[in-house]
Amino acid sequence: MDIIDSHNHWGPSVTMGTEVTTEELLRQAEESGVSRIVIFPFPSTALADEGINQRLLNEADRVRRFIPYYYIPETMKPIPEGKGYYGGKWHWMRGIQDSSSNYQALKDSRLEEFIDVSERMDLPIVLEEEFAFTEAFVNKTKSLKIIIPHLGGLGGNPMDFLDAFKARDHVYFDTALASSDTVMKFIDKVGHERILFGSDIPFGTMKWELEKVLSLPIGDDKKEWILSKNLKRLIGLA
Ligand SMILES: [Zn+2]
Repeated sequence: MDIIDSHNHWGPSVTMGTEVTTEELLRQAEESGVSRIVIFPFPSTALADEGINQRLLNEADRVRRFIPYYYIPETMKPIPEGKGYYGGKWHWMRGIQDSSSNYQALKDSRLEEFIDVSERMDLPIVLEEEFAFTEAFVNKTKSLKIIIPHLGGLGGNPMDFLDAFKARDHVYFDTALASSDTVMKFIDKVGHERILFGSDIPFGTMKWELEKVLSLPIGDDKKEWILSKNLKRLIGLA
């Protein structure tokens, strides 16, 4: 069964004073039997120096197992086209990092263009914000492929995210750091087609996160969709 990890951080973290190296990601992938790894920069690093997006892209060019995502800067610049990015990471836009959404961002005139361009490119955006912000954002979209990390667990109550977006076929969820019970509630309501396996290294480990998905009380065919096929379909990977 092919396994692709849809959520990991790569490179230095300015605020944490640590670094997730290529070697560490490849070591964990080897240990877990993961074939390819989605990577994006740490927020604090991207805010301090947007050049990290290019360095991450260069690394993915060198290490073919990496699938690079673009960190959306505070200017709301869309993913640059034709560069080789497979998706984007939207992280608490102009918010107080990792803790609260800045609702002014929803009123920015550049948001409409960001959504327009992103929908046309048809690449997924991993979007991390509070529930109310996420709901307002999703309501502005028609077809934008949005991946909500941790089943919404860092932005509020996952059940609120589930209820609000269960009828929205273009909204997806990743399993990183979520409990097995919560993952099952999501699968029961939206099916396995909109759930993606993710580890969120360095906050989770591939081995633990993969074991969690492999232990779910569902058939192997459904697990395969969660572990790789859904993401492949989302980013157009053969
Ligand atoms: Zn993360």
